[in-house]
This record gives sequence, structure tokens and C-alpha cells, in this order.
Amino acid sequence: MSKHVWHPYSQMKTDKVLKVKSAKDSKITLEDGREIIDAVSSWWVNPHGHANEHVAKTIYDQALTLEHVIFSGFTHEPAERLAERVSKKYPGDLNRVFFSDNGSTAVEAAMKMAIQYHYNRGEQKTTLIAFENAYHGDTFGAMSSSQPDSFFNAFKPFHFKVERLPVPTEENKAEVLAKFKAIALEGEAAAFIFEPLLQAASGMILYPPHLLDMLISMAKQHGILCIADEVMTGFARTGKMFAMEYLEETADICCLSKCLTAGFLPMALTLATDEIYQAFLDDDRSKMFFHGHSYTGNPIGCAAAHASMDLFEKEDFMPKINWIGQQHRAFLDKIKNHPKVTKPRMFGTMLAFDWNTGEGATYFSSLRNTLYEFFLSQGVLLRPLGNVIYILPPYCITKEELEQVYTAIEKALDSIDG
Ligand code: PMP
Repeated sequence: MSKHVWHPYSQMKTDKVLKVKSAKDSKITLEDGREIIDAVSSWWVNPHGHANEHVAKTIYDQALTLEHVIFSGFTHEPAERLAERVSKKYPGDLNRVFFSDNGSTAVEAAMKMAIQYHYNRGEQKTTLIAFENAYHGDTFGAMSSSQPDSFFNAFKPFHFKVERLPVPTEENKAEVLAKFKAIALEGEAAAFIFEPLLQAASGMILYPPHLLDMLISMAKQHGILCIADEVMTGFARTGKMFAMEYLEETADICCLSKCLTAGFLPMALTLATDEIYQAFLDDDRSKMFFHGHSYTGNPIGCAAAHASMDLFEKEDFMPKINWIGQQHRAFLDKIKNHPKVTKPRMFGTMLAFDWNTGEGATYFSSLRNTLYEFFLSQGVLLRPLGNVIYILPPYCITKEELEQVYTAIEKALDSIDG
């Protein structure tokens, strides 16, 4: 391992790091020659497989034309066309697109937009509403609205004010709605942020569209902006292009990042309605949106996103998504009665179940590490979230590769105690 690199979400004292030589489609090739199926799409960013030729060639051409230019005071065709292309596809009228670099900054920009929207209109609204178990990223605003098991304890004194709502179910919906109303009536909530229908990082927790519709509708009645964090659910992960397509209501702001550039380059988009955008227009420069990063609107990132969109728009794309769903369903049917399997579930291309430990397990449990190592020994990259096992493959995965992933899980169920 390098003496100089500090890896993300890694305990550098004990965690092993595998050295990668190359990757193609669903397979990662290590320096020692081993091949591993990337069954988590490299932290959920890769839709079309590694080293996709169409994306690579588009990037190459763009790099020879315009690699980057300051995005304040200057613009370019790849960014303008991308903003139009994505906003036309996204449900609702989110016509204004702000560029940044990753999921957390897309969320951070969304929150700042929401707070400054109220501020520019002369209203001091600084509270956010978020779900229990939410995960929105690692920057300060995103951390504040997240609630994963003890990840962010060191930073708690710096978190800003967030009101927590239980994730809605048929059983608790009256209580959740009443709590939402009570928070709304205090008049301080700027925005309600949520991962639509699928809370990913906290354990692939699902909740139904009509209950989210109910909360968005209440937020709108009280002038609370709704931020759909589709960083993980965007670009067909849930079986539709965007999770908000399952709803009647629409968001005011949306965050996109993973899969946007086909897993090639860091880029994120924060989409907003014209109404929000209008609140920043003024002769007074102090009303403008004070946010921006050096690589905002990077043309090569935009080119990668266009290439990715080309592939999403191909006729055989949605059938492939449906096919993955069918494979997952058949596999869940096969394992659902196994004594170690609880809460089997799937949504689009995501399959998950809880490993029955009797009492649950945390992200830090030894079971998680044992399973992670076991799957690698079977040539499969799966990263359990505590005792939650999930698959989130690149969409180019083949039948044989999916079979290898399923077989690794079945072998784990039959051979690992925990
Ligand atoms: N929002 C959601 C819903 C996420 O799942 C993630 C990352 N897993 C983020 C935001 C943060 O994205 P990034 O890691 O690119 O900062």
C-alpha cells in the first residue's frame, strides 16, 4: 500500500487496499491478475460499465476542443445543452441548472439555494427538515441533514438545525404528518430534503410514493421548499429514469451526480424551478447565489454526461433495466425463506436483504467485514452496509456475471455464521 495515500471511509491501520490495473464493463482487473465483478458500480456511479468506448471517445474529442474554462462570465455549448437535456427529462419544471462536482456539493448548493431564496425575499428561515436515517453526503450541510450511525459524531457541535421526521409507513403516517405540520407551523423551515423512495446509505430502506406525496404536498402548503436528493436514485437506478417519476407531486430542487458522467468524471447538478431562480435576480449584486467551484461546468464532464445520456436514450436501455429487475426478483424468491434472510426487497436495479443476526448489526460490525472479504474471495465486490447485503450493478452486467454474484451470496448464507 502507498505510504502517501489516505483512502476515503477506510481505517488505514487495518483495512486492506487492492491495487487495480484496469477495468472493463462489469469487471475490475487487479495488478495480480484477479478479476472482480463490480456489483456496486464503484460506489453507485457507473451505469454503462467501465471504460465504455462511446464515453471515452467523446471525452477525448472534447478534451482536444475545450478542456476547461472559467464558468463565471463564460459559457459553452456542452454545458448549455446538458442543462437543457437534463432539465427536460426531469419531472416538473426544474428549468435552472447549477453545476458542481459531487453529490455532497450538489446537496450543499441545494440547501444554500433554499436558505438564500427565503433570505432574498426578506424571510429568515434556517431550519431544515430531514428524515431519520437520511444520508446526504459529507460536507457540513449534507452531514447536518444526515443521520448515519455515529459517522459524524465529531462534528455534531457544528451541525445546523435539522428537524427529524420518521420515515413514513402506513402505520405511522398520521404521526409523521402531524409532526411535519407542527414543524411547518413554527414558520422557520426553509426546506424539506429527502432521498426519494429509497434511503440508500443507511441500509436500502424503501418507503412508498403516496406517503412522500403527502409530505411534499404539506410542505408546499407552508412554503417549504422540497429538495429531492436523487444523487443515488437518479439515472434509472430505481427502474425509472428518476425516482420522482413515481410521484404525483414534484420537487422544487433536485440533486444529481452519481451516474451522470457514466462514472468517468466528478460532476453534479442542482436543478431548481424558475421561481427559485427569479428570487436571485436583482440589480443588487448581493442577491446573487454565492457559490461556485473552480471546475464548475467542466466541458469534459459535460461531454461525458452527454455520452452517458446518449446510451440512456437508446432503445435497448430500459429493457435491460427491466431485465435486471426480473433477475433480482427470481433470486429473491429463491432465497427469501432462508433463515438468515429478512426483509428481502428490491426496487429497479437494487436488490437488498437484511442478514438476520438476531439483533441487527452496525456498519462497524465484524460480520460486515467477514462478508466483504468472503465476497471478494468469490470474485465479487459487494460492500454490505452493516448487516444489509445489497447489489447495485452496472447495467451492462451479463447473465453469467449476475449468476456469479447471486451464487456468492448463496454460498455466504450457507457457510457464514453471524
Ligand atoms: N446523497 C446521496 C443520496 C448519496 O447516496 C450520496 C453518496 N452516497 C451523496 C449524497 C453524496 O455524494 P458524494 O459521495 O458524491 O459526495
